Amino acid sequence: MILAGSAMTQPYVIEMSETGGVDVLKKVDRAPRAPGPGQALVRQTASGLNFIDTYHRTGLYPVKLPFVPGSEGAGVVEAVGEDVSHLKPGDRVAYLGSGTYSTHYTGAAATMVKLPDEVSEKAAAAVLLKGLTAWMLLFEVRRASPGETALVWAPVGGVGSLLVPWATSLGVNVIAVTSSETKGSRARELGAQHVVMSSSDVAKDVRAITDGAGVDVSYDSVGKASAQASLDSLKPRGWWVSYGNASGAAEPVAPGVLGGKGSLVLTRPGLFHFIADADGLRRGAAALFGALRAGTIQAHVGQSFALSDVAEAHEAIESGMTVGATLLLP
Ligand code: NDP
Repeated sequence: MILAGSAMTQPYVIEMSETGGVDVLKKVDRAPRAPGPGQALVRQTASGLNFIDTYHRTGLYPVKLPFVPGSEGAGVVEAVGEDVSHLKPGDRVAYLGSGTYSTHYTGAAATMVKLPDEVSEKAAAAVLLKGLTAWMLLFEVRRASPGETALVWAPVGGVGSLLVPWATSLGVNVIAVTSSETKGSRARELGAQHVVMSSSDVAKDVRAITDGAGVDVSYDSVGKASAQASLDSLKPRGWWVSYGNASGAAEPVAPGVLGGKGSLVLTRPGLFHFIADADGLRRGAAALFGALRAGTIQAHVGQSFALSDVAEAHEAIESGMTVGATLLLP
C-alpha cells in the first residue's frame, strides 16, 4: 500500500511473541492495515511510553501473543473508512489503544481525539493517557477538595508530574514520596509542599508533617513496596487509591484491616473503566486540554527514544531513571 504523505520510513511494528525481558521486543516490517468501517489509519509521529507497557511485556498483565505493545499515540490521519464523518486525512489526532508501538496505527475513529491547534502531537502523546489518569484520580474516583492533604508516590514520573501540579491547583496539600533528592527538588517545583524519601519510614514522616493526623488520600502507583506505608499514613476515613504496580502487585488486604485503621476506603481504579463510553473520554479530554491551555499542567517530555530503541526505553522506565513523560518516535 502506498501512503500519500508518509515518511520515508519502511512501515514496521514492535512485536513480542513471548513474555519476558526487553529482548522479547522485536522490530518486524509490516504494512499498515487499511481502515475498515468506523476506523481511521494514522501515520504516527509519537507514541507515549507507559509503565503498563512493561506489565504487558513481562506478563504481569496477560496479553494474547503475538502482541504489539503500546497504549497511546498521536499522528496525522492518512485515510478513513466508511461511516467516519468527524475525521479526514490530514487531521492531527491522539488516542489510547492497543498496538501503538508502530509506524502506523489503525483503530476506531470514535476513540480518536482531534488535537487543538496549540497542542502538538508530541505533547498529546506525552499527556493523553497519563493526564487522563490524573483527571480520573482527582475528579472521578473521588473529588479532590481544597485544604485536604494527599500523599503522592512517584511524583515526578509520567503521571506524577501531571498529578502534583493539578492537585496543587485545586488547593490540595501534596506530600511527595520519591527516591532521590534531585527528584524531590523537582517535586517541589511542581508544587509539592513536602517531600519524603521512599527509603525512610514514610508513614512516620507523614505523621510528623501532619501533626499526627495523617493524610486524606494516598495516590499510590508503586504497589507492593508502598502498600503498608500508604495504609499507615491515612487518617480515619482516608482513601488508599492504589492505581499502579511499579514495584510489583500489592498483597491482598483483609476488610478488617481497613476497619481497624479507621473505616478506610481502598480502591483500585483503571482508567479504561472511566473512559469506556464516548462521554467519559470527551469529558476527560476536555478537562485535560483545558488544564494544558490554562497552564495548570505542562507536557514535560523528559526523554525520547527512537521506536526501534524501545528496549532501552523500557529499561529506563523500569529502573526509575525517567522523569516526566517518555516518547517513542517512529
Ligand atoms: P512513572 O514515570 O511514574 O515511572 C515509575 C516510577 O515509579 C519511577 O520513576 C519511580 O519513581 C517509581 N518507583 C517506585 N518503585 C519502583 C520500582 N521498584 N521500580 C520502578 N519504579 C519504581 O510511570 P508512569 O507515569 O507511566 O506510570 C505511573 C504508574 O501509574 C504506574 O504504576 C502505572 O502502572 C500507573 N498507571 C495506572 C493507570 C490506571 O488506570 N490505573 C493508568 C496509567 C498509569 P520514584 O523514583 O519517584 O519513586
